[in-house]
Amino acid sequence: MTEEHRYRPATQAAQALGWVEPATGGVAPAIYPASTYVRQAVPGRTKYLYSRDDNPTYEQAEQLLTSLEGGSAAMLFSSGMAAAATLIQGLSSGDRVVLPEVVYWGVRRVAKDIASGWGIGFDFVPNGDLDALARAVQPGRTRLVWLETPSNPTMAVADIEACAAIAHRAGALVVVDSTFASPVLTRPIELGADIVMHSGTKYLNGHSDVIAGALVAKEPSPFWEKLIAVRRYAGAVLGPFEAWLLLRGMRTLFLRVRAQSENAMALARHFEDHPSILHVLYPGLESHPDHAIARRQMTGGFGGMLSLRIRGGEEAALRAWGACQLFKVATSLGGVESLIEHRASIEGADSPVPKDLLRVSVGIEDVQDLIADLENAVKAV
Ligand code: PLP
Repeated sequence: MTEEHRYRPATQAAQALGWVEPATGGVAPAIYPASTYVRQAVPGRTKYLYSRDDNPTYEQAEQLLTSLEGGSAAMLFSSGMAAAATLIQGLSSGDRVVLPEVVYWGVRRVAKDIASGWGIGFDFVPNGDLDALARAVQPGRTRLVWLETPSNPTMAVADIEACAAIAHRAGALVVVDSTFASPVLTRPIELGADIVMHSGTKYLNGHSDVIAGALVAKEPSPFWEKLIAVRRYAGAVLGPFEAWLLLRGMRTLFLRVRAQSENAMALARHFEDHPSILHVLYPGLESHPDHAIARRQMTGGFGGMLSLRIRGGEEAALRAWGACQLFKVATSLGGVESLIEHRASIEGADSPVPKDLLRVSVGIEDVQDLIADLENAVKAV
């Protein structure tokens, strides 16, 4: 454990593990753009060889994320989906993965449209149904149990500890896509996860100016070694400029996520009993079916994501969506600016997302402006 690891996570993040640029003493890290490195003569290699393998700029962000998640190692990727696909590429024909029915649609697309053609089997179970999970895991065949919590966009909260117990009994590893929670609100490894996945595009970066992904391992393992090989040989690395932006974003992670969680809670409470809203899906509300799990598992807030089911069905939801002015009508989430999206029309025909649902990514604006904008939007319906 280095000096910096003794400090609490918010301190580690603010100071990027206390790393100081060695050539100048700069408190902002340098970017190392080199794609290749001069090799020493015999015995053969420098620490760095080629930036498809490793680069000092990746390592700073990787080390900070490893520490924030309480893992043993991390790898950055060129997108969240590149990280997700790497997990699947680490499997072999005949292996099976259990996925929740509501999961980020890109993961569902990779499973159904791409990886099933490689002989990998996928079993979908209803989010939160532990009996269904226990029935779905096949000892010796199921390699991964995939959780996404809170889920995109229905906000189901998976009980990581309970799911991990079921998965581990069957010899499967547990992957948690913790994009919505971020390490500020949930530390899946402490709850039994073997690998944590992030779309770094979202809360980790926080400024909507990077596409990035990450995996964090609880401990070294042959599977993790395989994933290192997949990144090295298949090549979905992030690149030094983006890694630098990601690290810069992570330094304000705690501040942003706490502010976003507060704003989201205020919005959820405001619209909970609103006549134009059928249902607010937010794990911080007592009315949320997974509230008890969320209270146990999420610390310091319930996140900046919520979904609204608009009274009047799809047409009403689409009209309210289009009437937003301050909320930007755009995909993605986790940035400092608030966004809103009608997921069912984005995801297409096999989407399990209700058609009256609008997904809201709450930013750090003044919450009274956000409430007023949504009030106007639902009035337009
Ligand atoms: N996982 C979740 C929960 C997401 O919301 C997203 C994107 O929205 C991804 C993974 C994919 O991340 P990226 O867009 O960085 O590939």
